[in-house]
Amino acid sequence: MSEPLPGVGVTPLSGLGTARWYRPDERPDPESVEAAAPETERERFADAQAQAREEIETERENTAERVGEEEAAVFDAHLQFLDDPQITDGVDEAIEDGAAAEAGVARAYGSAIEQFEGMEGMMAERADDMRDIRDRLLRILSGGERMDLETLPEGTVLLAERLTPSDTAQLDPERVAGFATATGGRTSHAAIFARSLGIPAVVGVGEDLLAIDEGADVAIDATNDAVIVDPDEETRERVTTSRDIEVRSEPVETADGVEIEVAANLGTTAELDGAVDQGADGIGLYRTEFLFLDREQPPDEDEQFESYVDALEAFPDGRVVVRTLDIGGDKPIPYLDAEAEENPFLGNRGIRRSLDEDSDLFESQLRALLRTAAEGDGRLSVMFPLVSTTEELDAALDAVDAAAESLDEEGIEYERPELGVMIETPAAVMMADELASRLDFFSIGTNDLSQYVMAASRENDAVAHLHDPLHPAVLRAIHRSVEAAHDNDAWIGMCGEMAGDPSVTKLLVGLGLDELSMSAVTIPEVKAGITETDTESAEELAERALGASTKLKYVKR
Ligand code: PEP
Ligand code: MG
Repeated sequence: MSEPLPGVGVTPLSGLGTARWYRPDERPDPESVEAAAPETERERFADAQAQAREEIETERENTAERVGEEEAAVFDAHLQFLDDPQITDGVDEAIEDGAAAEAGVARAYGSAIEQFEGMEGMMAERADDMRDIRDRLLRILSGGERMDLETLPEGTVLLAERLTPSDTAQLDPERVAGFATATGGRTSHAAIFARSLGIPAVVGVGEDLLAIDEGADVAIDATNDAVIVDPDEETRERVTTSRDIEVRSEPVETADGVEIEVAANLGTTAELDGAVDQGADGIGLYRTEFLFLDREQPPDEDEQFESYVDALEAFPDGRVVVRTLDIGGDKPIPYLDAEAEENPFLGNRGIRRSLDEDSDLFESQLRALLRTAAEGDGRLSVMFPLVSTTEELDAALDAVDAAAESLDEEGIEYERPELGVMIETPAAVMMADELASRLDFFSIGTNDLSQYVMAASRENDAVAHLHDPLHPAVLRAIHRSVEAAHDNDAWIGMCGEMAGDPSVTKLLVGLGLDELSMSAVTIPEVKAGITETDTESAEELAERALGASTKLKYVKR
């Protein structure tokens, strides 16, 4: 067995199989292709566009069927980029200057890719969409065949420098034991699709991945963020048995009888079935921004209403927490024309935009949510992201009142949902008492809270050791928020990635959280952990962790 290659596990699953390399980029250098007359090259480009359009439309249909309608919307964005005059004019100009269609495509899409890469977070990942289209066009122009990703031999571990969204959407979870890529991060589309499809996946492994031989035995140990070549017996057993944890569809309690709600984080309603299958008690975080991404227009009130009602209907006995739009930062939306910011994570994002330039969107979202609440016997909860001040909260509450008033005037049925905020900023922690006194609940977003408490970007590998919620500074922020919530008769959950890490379940029980919300795939293991935990010993563990001056390993189970 070789040393495990570290990467970023994007699904808490593992798998074992035979390495198969996917190298779609191996084709002639576009700049070395000899150009025919501009007219011929223009025709070649138009033909390639037409074929690409056909392929994308087919893939859109297949993805809608296999992954979900909302995920399939990424292909609408591809169709849009395929005809985007800003890019196609660039291709035409290059051809006019004597380049072959290949070179025109490589140059025009290359500069668009560079522009997107210069941005942060999710916007940078739009560069992947551009690469996807460029590579598709180059393959078509060179007459190349595609590897059929839908019918890979069973037990394949797919290895690639990078996988595009359309590559990932084609993978069949029944056949593919897992995949690993040299590049990519947690929020790339490849990662999001892998989670939706339940495929073990480790991304961002780096150059070392490239040395793995075709046909090698490879374990994808996404739970431990590693790829292992020639795994030993013990590793094989571990990675092939970790899927078999009992699914508990009922709410669970600790060994001494304290009930803790275990809910699922939801990106799109396509993930609802998976959440139910894994035994979620409800939805603890519905990230509604995915409804708004990868399309040309925002969804209207009715379309939103339908999606929120779908979530409620999937959990007839559970609570559904919908978060209002959290865009900006790492999740800008192209049609909203957000200014590029030097420091987007410290800039105009979350509730700040909703109360200002996106107030129209906020209003229609609140109206859709208030209408949904009337359908759900009080099971709908609404929360606001990235709140830092009581003024912001009061303004958001005023917006809820205004939405209610407008529905009233129009005679449309609605109810007031439970209201809460995400605890994601140190300011919210410091003001938790005042915030809680106005609210029904909090949900701690440890992904952002860790980056803001520790001043360490969640996107920068160089400071990943600091961006860790196990630092006592972050644990104390969590503790303070829990106390403030409970002092004000509010409940408190956690929906950052920490909540879904089974190795800290005992600590989180000890910190007093009432609810934990996570990617659906980790629910069975966290539920099992809760049933094995005794609150008294969990509280002792939490006390030791809170009293520590350094990040200590013993906070883990
Ligand atoms: C968080 O910040 O922990 C969180 C759950 O929100 P998001 O990851 O969507 O920013
Ligand atoms: Mg957040």
